[in-house]
Amino acid sequence: MSNIRLYNTFTRSKENLSPIEEGVARIYSCGPTVYASPHIGNFRAFLFADILRRSLEFFGLKVIHVMNVTDVGHLVGDSNAGEDKLEKGAKITGKTVWEVARGYEDEFKRDLLELNIEKATYFPRATEHIVEQLEMIKTLTAKGFTYETSDGIYYDVSKFADYGKLSGQSLEDKIAGARVEVKDEKRNQADFALWKFCVGENANHTMRWDFSGKDVSSEAHLSEEENKEKKIGFPGWHIECSAMGMKYLGETFDIHTGGVDHIPVHHENEIAQSEAATGKKFVNIWMHNEFLAVDGGKMSKSLGNLYTLEDLKKKGFEPLSFRYLTLLTHYRKKLDFTWEALKAATSALQNLREIYQTLPDAEIPLASAVKEFGEALADDLNTAKALAVAWEIAKNENITPGMKKATLAKFDEVLGLELDKAAEAVELNESQKKLLVERETARKNKEWQKSDALRDELAQLGIEVEDTSEGQIVKRKL
Ligand code: AMP
Ligand code: ZN
Repeated sequence: MSNIRLYNTFTRSKENLSPIEEGVARIYSCGPTVYASPHIGNFRAFLFADILRRSLEFFGLKVIHVMNVTDVGHLVGDSNAGEDKLEKGAKITGKTVWEVARGYEDEFKRDLLELNIEKATYFPRATEHIVEQLEMIKTLTAKGFTYETSDGIYYDVSKFADYGKLSGQSLEDKIAGARVEVKDEKRNQADFALWKFCVGENANHTMRWDFSGKDVSSEAHLSEEENKEKKIGFPGWHIECSAMGMKYLGETFDIHTGGVDHIPVHHENEIAQSEAATGKKFVNIWMHNEFLAVDGGKMSKSLGNLYTLEDLKKKGFEPLSFRYLTLLTHYRKKLDFTWEALKAATSALQNLREIYQTLPDAEIPLASAVKEFGEALADDLNTAKALAVAWEIAKNENITPGMKKATLAKFDEVLGLELDKAAEAVELNESQKKLLVERETARKNKEWQKSDALRDELAQLGIEVEDTSEGQIVKRKL
């Protein structure tokens, strides 16, 4: 196996992957907060994790992959303040908080499938690991890393000397720089909630547990005083990833992924909690994907440019076109999403599939090409280069068609573009069918002007007509 070099945010350099257990890579990826439909930015993060995983499998490693589902505790106001995103989602939709969580989790998993993202080995839910989270909170308390305020149990970052190392901020900056702003009972601005009591704005938090981890959601609400007294509440967001990561992958594991937005707070906090609890290094390599932006800016609901996979499909794009698009840009570079770029990715994917599907049965892959492809991936997942290697092979006239097919099939194990997928048939409605027949008659009668006019009319309706020796072929117009 060649050296696999991956960029570690913690050391700011590419490092050789050297799995803790030989032949096995253990990966944790921060998953979705299931309070709304996941958007294509989230999917950039999940596609990146998928390429990482498939690449390691391509190199012969067994991968144990955990992706959590955040279904409680992620507060609107970052880590400590504001309503729980799930509770807010429930209020807006009129559904129960459980319905909201499971509904969006289903949607997320459906979308993963459509993007051909391999299923994680484990998809643990935060709500199903409350005991593990409380155990860690109790360990941290016993070791003197926590303190209690009127609304919860907090982690004191000043007790953890390495706090801020991942994002390159010194602990002094994090504490002193922010001290002026500390308005609540926190000792330091960067301190974060491990456990929130059902008091104040969270007094009626639906999902809640007692301090032994027993679910008391279906019991009558107690007074705020009683909730505080009995420590009835729910976990802060960060603790779930430490507790579940360790449960499924061990106290130290190989790789942790997430978007760059998680570097300064969420992952800093994961490190602080985990390493304080175990006294061991939590993760060997921290990997982060850059953001997906839309038309040069941030995606947001208010700007109306927060797209879901469903939005792409409604415009006639297949999900794998988006997968192809993300492969064109290195995961550590910003990707600016435009419809034009998605169109270009769609036709490139269609062309690659057309070439692949005209090839006869597969022989064996071309070893030199497989090596080149592997080297691109082993260089911090250079997917753009890997795709370029695939195109070189597709266009190479000097290798046998069978070998070409086998080589491309091998590449597709990582690219996941379903090169063997047949083009989707376009379903026409009655009036579109009529126009198409009219056009065929016009062409037979050599009425070119009329046939062109009918082509334009069909284009207006989203149908593209191509004339071939076999007659008219229709495609959905993008
Ligand atoms: P969330 O559901 O907000 O917890 O996010 C799930 C994952 O998507 C995290 O790894 C985020 O860092 C990542 N993410 C969120 N927005 C974007 C974006 N615009 N581009 C790329 N990754 C993102
Ligand atoms: Zn996380």
